[in-house]
Amino acid sequence: MTPLEELRHSGSHILATAVLRLFPDAKLDIGPPTDTGFYYDIDLEHKFTADDLTKLEAEMKKIAEENQPFLRKEVSREEAIEIIKSRGQERYKLGRLADIPEGEKISFYQNGEFIDLCAGTHIRYTAKFKAFKLLSIAGAYHRGDEKNKQLQRIYGTAFPTKEELAQYLERQEQAKARDHRKLGRDLKLFHIDEDVGQGLILWTPNGSILRQELQNFIGDELRKQGYSQVFTPHIGKLTLYKTSGHFPYYKESQFTAFPEPDDLARLSAEGCGCAELTARLEGVTAQFADEINRRAGKEVIAQDRVMDPTKLLDGFMLKPMNCPHHIKIFASQPHSYRDLPVRLAEFGTVYRWEQSGELNGMTRVRGFTQDDAHLFCTEEQVAAEIQGCLSLVKTVLTTLGMADYRVRVGLRDPDSSKFTGDPAKWDAAENACRTAAATLGVPFTEEPGEAAFYGPKIDFVIKDVIGREWQLGTVQVDYVLPVRFDLSYVGADNQSHRPVMIHRAPFGSMERFCGVLIEHFNGDFPVWLAPEQIRLVPISDKVIDYGRDLLTQLRAAGLRATLDEHSDKLGAKIRRGEIDKVPYTLVLGQKEAEVKSVSVRSRAKGDEGVMPFADYLERVKQEVATRALPVKKPVTAATTVAPASGGKPAAPEAPGVN
Ligand SMILES: [Zn+2]
Ligand SMILES: [Zn+2]
Repeated sequence: MTPLEELRHSGSHILATAVLRLFPDAKLDIGPPTDTGFYYDIDLEHKFTADDLTKLEAEMKKIAEENQPFLRKEVSREEAIEIIKSRGQERYKLGRLADIPEGEKISFYQNGEFIDLCAGTHIRYTAKFKAFKLLSIAGAYHRGDEKNKQLQRIYGTAFPTKEELAQYLERQEQAKARDHRKLGRDLKLFHIDEDVGQGLILWTPNGSILRQELQNFIGDELRKQGYSQVFTPHIGKLTLYKTSGHFPYYKESQFTAFPEPDDLARLSAEGCGCAELTARLEGVTAQFADEINRRAGKEVIAQDRVMDPTKLLDGFMLKPMNCPHHIKIFASQPHSYRDLPVRLAEFGTVYRWEQSGELNGMTRVRGFTQDDAHLFCTEEQVAAEIQGCLSLVKTVLTTLGMADYRVRVGLRDPDSSKFTGDPAKWDAAENACRTAAATLGVPFTEEPGEAAFYGPKIDFVIKDVIGREWQLGTVQVDYVLPVRFDLSYVGADNQSHRPVMIHRAPFGSMERFCGVLIEHFNGDFPVWLAPEQIRLVPISDKVIDYGRDLLTQLRAAGLRATLDEHSDKLGAKIRRGEIDKVPYTLVLGQKEAEVKSVSVRSRAKGDEGVMPFADYLERVKQEVATRALPVKKPVTAATTVAPASGGKPAAPEAPGVN
């Protein structure tokens, strides 16, 4: 354990000590450190309350002041059982003891009257534990299995100093205030409706503007790089995904496949059961299996899936990936080496089955639109194409004020048999990824064993304003799908060659990216992204006509403006503009109307005084055209990093996981 983990894990022991002092009936399970603190899982009839946390904290403070030493004691298995029984803790601790393999040391740690089965390590004296806080209570199944009893988990955190603790708690508060689920509601950006379904985002008008502006921006950059826009349907036939390998191998992360209506009616009439229906949807002909296995050069479709052709059904599924559709566009025409690279881009919507417990606002959903593209190129072009992907990412992140990011280059583990294909090609592709990452001028790490099985990849991790890290999307090199789909182009030598495919969705999905952006900007979007850019606020009814005139001019200039015609006081109107986080509020009085000026208040700078409307219009048009960031007072930089909330993106390890 690191010293910080040691400190926090000691907190688990001190918490358990306090729990048993106040609740002697409590049965203890396990108390490890976490990335941000510690917890202990406790079985107790009484439901812990916020009030209990305060009392427990006070007791923990006492225990720290008692300055108890942590004493290690190694015992035999028999002695261990005795100790656990003597403390009345056999319910969970005997099971935990049984987890320790025969022959391994069994140790207990004692502080004061409390003794716990533990491998260590700990701080030497409890007095070192002085900057801590209990944070929350949550339900947690014993051993994480919902078939087991649900225990109460008390979470806490601890730091070496009070200052670090205060800073952490402050940042947690900031994070809570800028939670995209809360801001999404307040600013009317998106809605999730039980009747539509969990994890399915309804983009409301305001959120749609945000998304559309981002898509326009990314789309503009893609066009500059020579990408072609395509559109493809939201469903595809099962044959397509049997060829790609996405079905049925990853079906647990996909919506259920469905047969054609006529087939379903006929089979129901025949009394066909669900299991048989599934088998018929998953089956393949012997010819199909042979062909795919021949292309792959090994058995990727097992013989037990081969079925009598008269029994087979070819249904449909909601697409879990855009790749097969784009491949079919590429394959729809013959290609010469002169056509390559072909770059097909689509804001493509895909559907994945996530457990409802995993869903979280916009950052973990069941339907999402990827900023997807597939590049088909020659071996020699791989390096330049990866470079192009990374330069796009750099442009977009810099424009959004997310200059603080790093990349992870996932390489193969040469000792693992998981990674298929020609080692020479792997080396070349890995070098291309490495070189491209190095030219970005941001920190990057090489992670052996983290490649996809079909090729190396690059992941992006950004740090937001308050120091939290978020994983976005990836760039992946793929040697497998071109083989599976038997793709080819005619080379300069007039021979047929296999193209290399690159999958790239650097921002992951529009849902996740917008969720991150909402929190990053705390809802205070730059003018070009703001759903409502300008609000006109007339002081009295006498200047409403002036307001309408300006509104027309602003809208004609392509700006998103509104006129507040409510009859409330000026202060209330200005306040409303602030709550709605409108970047500009223009106050209009009699004097302004006479000389065609406006009194400008901006979210970034506050009161900016009176200026001619024509000047203001030029300025804001410029700001939008250049996608300028608001110039703000600097935010206090955070020093430590909390884990990315929302967790890792849900990508099954299928060919073309982006
Ligand atoms: Zn311990
Ligand atoms: Zn793909």
